[in-house]
Amino acid sequence: MIIKPKVRGFVCVTAHPEGCAAHGQEWIDYVKSKGPIKGGPKKVLVIGASTGYGLASRITAAFGSGAGTLGIFYERPSEEGRTATPGWYNSIGFTQAARAAGLYAENINGDAFSDDIKRQAIERLRADLGPVDLVIYSLASPRRTHPRTGATHKSVLKPVGVSYTNKTVDTDKGLVSEVKIEPANDAEIADTVAVMGGEDWEMWMNALSEAKLLAPGAQSVAYSYIGPEVTWAIYKNGTIGLAKNDLERAARNIDSLLKLNGGGRAFISVNKALVTQASSAIPVVPLYISILYKIMKAAGTHEGCIEQIQRLFATHLYNGNTPKLDEAGRVRIDDWEMRPEIQAAVRDIWPRVTTENLAAETDIAGYRSDFLKLFGFGVNGVNYDAETEPHRTLP
Ligand code: NAD
Repeated sequence: MIIKPKVRGFVCVTAHPEGCAAHGQEWIDYVKSKGPIKGGPKKVLVIGASTGYGLASRITAAFGSGAGTLGIFYERPSEEGRTATPGWYNSIGFTQAARAAGLYAENINGDAFSDDIKRQAIERLRADLGPVDLVIYSLASPRRTHPRTGATHKSVLKPVGVSYTNKTVDTDKGLVSEVKIEPANDAEIADTVAVMGGEDWEMWMNALSEAKLLAPGAQSVAYSYIGPEVTWAIYKNGTIGLAKNDLERAARNIDSLLKLNGGGRAFISVNKALVTQASSAIPVVPLYISILYKIMKAAGTHEGCIEQIQRLFATHLYNGNTPKLDEAGRVRIDDWEMRPEIQAAVRDIWPRVTTENLAAETDIAGYRSDFLKLFGFGVNGVNYDAETEPHRTLP
């Protein structure tokens, strides 16, 4: 079958197997080009390992310091004549590359929020890899079925308290318009915290601790976002921001747990706004990212997921470094994004952007190209006119 992109709003319903593998290989090559990460992790569990920041973490651990990795993700496998979601192909590509390099790489595809998947992960670690020295928690999910109550919580991306009106862009059609979002009610806030807050991370860490699968000194990191004032109503001060506050609460509990386990630690890393499947679903944020890309590329400070996470590992976690924390105890690899001159330039462009000048005032082209790459399209060296087999199995 010849596989072409089919974009529907903020998703692409097809994905390219060779394209996804080649995109992952670019990330692997980047990590290798930066040289080994001294004192890096050796046995790593990545929860949310198949795309975005989680995949970048897995690749950095494996190809930066030779770590064996167990990856947990929730992807739709391919079928006869039907493509998989990109994380499926990414994980096949990663697993093949890691094993070819002599590294342990295993995968569990299923709902990380469930007790069953936690049990499977524990059994797998017990059988193969043993206690892990790093746990990366990088889930981004629209819903969670709670393992104790059975209730399914759906997260919403809404402001809290007041309605919010701002510019947004339909990245597919290139239309800039105003969006008005009504505030979330209490149930929606609680649901979003249940999905994107820290309870599940704590459940994972407690289960690993009880199973004695945390190596002495083991560390754990989860990812968050803060961003500029223009997005605060929908992000930092919105429902997702409240969930991220709960993630910080969980980080403190997990940090206490890990400190008792041979002096380990847990913390939040605040990362840069980037095109991923998760961020493309948030109103307003894609327009901000398009402007940010333009300014940071011009300043020579633009990074993607892999550059961000390689920098996190190499300059905060390992290589003889300790994490440099902000006043709230978080690592800030959004530091380059938040530089005053970058944010001043965003504030300057923001009010001017219209549908007519979108291409000139923003890097919408870079946004679209990164978006298509998430699905394995537009990657150098891939022949997109060639027949390819969509149905692939995890090795
Ligand atoms: P993503 O959509 O690329 O990745 C999400 C991952 O979670 C995938 O591996 C997916 O398979 C997995 N997943 C989702 N639901 C699951 C479930 N029920 N069970 C198992 N796996 C499941 O997202 P991302 O943007 O890389 O986000 C990862 C983290 O980084 C999130 O906490 C997000 O808030 C944070 N972050 C993202 C940005 C950004 O701009 N993209 C910026 C800062 C922080």
